Amino acid sequence: MTYIRCPEHWLFRYSLGLKRTPKKILKHGFALHEVFAYHFDQKKKDGKGIKVGDAKEFFADVFLGALDDYKQELEATRPYLTKEYLKKEHEVDINDLLDRGMRGIEVYFKKLNPLIIPDLVEEAFEFQASKDIKVIGRLDLTHVNGTIHELKTTRKNPNAQDIRSDPQLAIYQLGYHSIKGKYPVALSKDYIVLSKNDSKITRFRVARPFANRNTVLRNINAIMKATENNIFYCMHPAESWFCSKEWCGYYTLHQELKKIGLTKFMSKYSKR
Ligand code: SF4
Repeated sequence: MTYIRCPEHWLFRYSLGLKRTPKKILKHGFALHEVFAYHFDQKKKDGKGIKVGDAKEFFADVFLGALDDYKQELEATRPYLTKEYLKKEHEVDINDLLDRGMRGIEVYFKKLNPLIIPDLVEEAFEFQASKDIKVIGRLDLTHVNGTIHELKTTRKNPNAQDIRSDPQLAIYQLGYHSIKGKYPVALSKDYIVLSKNDSKITRFRVARPFANRNTVLRNINAIMKATENNIFYCMHPAESWFCSKEWCGYYTLHQELKKIGLTKFMSKYSKR
């Protein structure tokens, strides 16, 4: 998935093993993920799960704990973070994130939780993409009726078209098949839209993503071959928000790579 989003990012993170660049918002997403994983695991056992108040408390504990890790990660990656990135991170208000998280949990428990009877929760899967490539992953949540639920948080209104072309969901349908021996009946992408004053749930559901089994396996094999052949490139237009000094923690390295070229860059950083 990292390579699909940005092949150069894959080079920094997995080929050269540079540390992941920290973001408060990722810790926030992690904390919400932990809350819902715990809740649905309990709900699978007792049919109820945890109460909304306990979920909020759990969320605050996990989020604040994750922020300690964030501080350490920030120190470890500081040498290659731009001042714009650091400024933007500094401006992210923890209380605001806490508030939004609480409102998100509230709306999720009210609107979506009553509709989901959990079957697989944080279930590991694996399948062969070819003789030499094994794909491993985890399904966050499925409903007993055979629907895969993928939970996302966002601040902007999500786009319905995203779901059919989502490569992650295309992989999940194969993961589901490897566990159950059949394909899911549907895939549901459930967004908690965390706006300032009001949070809401937006869901998109499809029976099948565009990519079928053969396409997924072909793409996985092509990506692995590309990484073995050092095919790493920036796939974002010059003005993309994603590929900017404010947003991407690897921006300094990106500039250096552009300047000295892949061969010199690899020999400098792979020795570390
Ligand atoms: S700077 Fe741009 S191309 Fe480089 S890793 Fe970041 S997003 Fe990818």
